[in-house]
Amino acid sequence: SPAVVAFLGLGHMGLPMAKNLLAAGHEVHGFDLVPAAIEAARTAGIPVAASGADAVADADVVITMFPAGKHVIEAYRTELLAAARPGTLFIESSTIAVDEARAAHALALAAGHRNVDAPVSGGVVGAENGTLAFMVGGSDDDFAAALPLLEVMGKRIVHCGGPGLGQAAKVCNNMVLAVSQIAVAEAFVLGERLGLEHQALFDVVSQASGQCWSITTNCPVPGPVPTSPANRDYQPGFAGALMAKDLGLALQAIEQTSTDARMGRLAQEIYAAFAAGDGAGRDFSGIITDIRDDRV
Ligand code: NAD
Repeated sequence: SPAVVAFLGLGHMGLPMAKNLLAAGHEVHGFDLVPAAIEAARTAGIPVAASGADAVADADVVITMFPAGKHVIEAYRTELLAAARPGTLFIESSTIAVDEARAAHALALAAGHRNVDAPVSGGVVGAENGTLAFMVGGSDDDFAAALPLLEVMGKRIVHCGGPGLGQAAKVCNNMVLAVSQIAVAEAFVLGERLGLEHQALFDVVSQASGQCWSITTNCPVPGPVPTSPANRDYQPGFAGALMAKDLGLALQAIEQTSTDARMGRLAQEIYAAFAAGDGAGRDFSGIITDIRDDRV
C-alpha cells in the first residue's frame, strides 16, 4: 500500500531514488539544503517541503541520502527525530561509518522511532533504473517494514544482521573491490612488461581463478570489455573520490577492530593518493595509469 515517504538529500543518488518511489505510487515529500537540488526535484515532479522538519512531520518513513555520517547525525539530532511522529521508520541509506550508523540507530530509538541502515551499491545508473543493491542492518521487523520500499529502488536486498551491519557489509565489499582492482591493474602492467597482449591476459584471467568483477566488468585496459571505463578515458563509473571515501570508512573500521588488514590499508593509501591527484573524478580503474607511470 502507498506510504508517505520523506526523502531527504536529493543529490546524485537521492533524486532518482525518490523519483522511483513517486512513480511506484508513494507520496513523496522531498527536501534538500541546496537550491539547485530543490529546483531539480521540483522539475522532476517531486513536491519539496520548506524544511526537513516539515518533510518528515506526517511521514510513515524517512529516507536519508546525505554525503557523510556527520550530516546524518546532525540532521537526526537537531531536526528530524523531534519532528517525526512516534514510531516513524528511518531508513538511512548514505554510506557512513559503522559506528556512526550505530550512533544514528541509538538516537532514533531513544526518540521513539525505528531505524535501519541501508547503504547501497550500483551508483547513479542503479539509482535511476531501480536496480540498486541494498545492504541492510536492523531488526527483523524493521527490515520487513523497509523491504517494500527498498524493492522499488533496488533489485538485490540483503538483510546483513543487526544495526550497523549493512554498513559493515558495504565497507567490506568495497575493500575487496579496491584490492582486486589494484591487483588486476598490476597484472596488466606486469603482463605488458613481459610482452603479454592485453586480450591474451584477459582471456586467461577472466576464465581462471583470478576472475573477478574488476576484470570481467571493469577491465582497466581498453578492448576486452567494450563497456568498461577504460574505453572512455576512465570517465566513471565509480569515481576515485567515492572509492577513497569508502576506504576511509574501511580504515576506520580496521583500526577500531585492530584487524590485521594490510591489503585494505594499502588500498586505502593508494586510493587516497589517487583521489588527491587527478583521480577524484576518474573511474577508480584508472589506477592502472598511475601504476604504469610508476606514480603509486
Ligand atoms: P550528493 O552530494 O550528490 O547528494 C547528497 C545531498 O544531500 C546533497 O544534495 C546535499 O545538499 C544533501 N544534504 C546534506 N545534508 C542535508 C540535510 N540536512 N537535509 C537535506 N539535504 C541534505 O551525494 P550522492 O552522490 O547522491 O551520494 C549520497 C550518498 O550515497 C553518499 O553517502 C555516497 O557515499 C553514497 N553513494 C553514492 C554513490 C554514487 O555513485 N554517487 C554510490 C553508492 C553510494
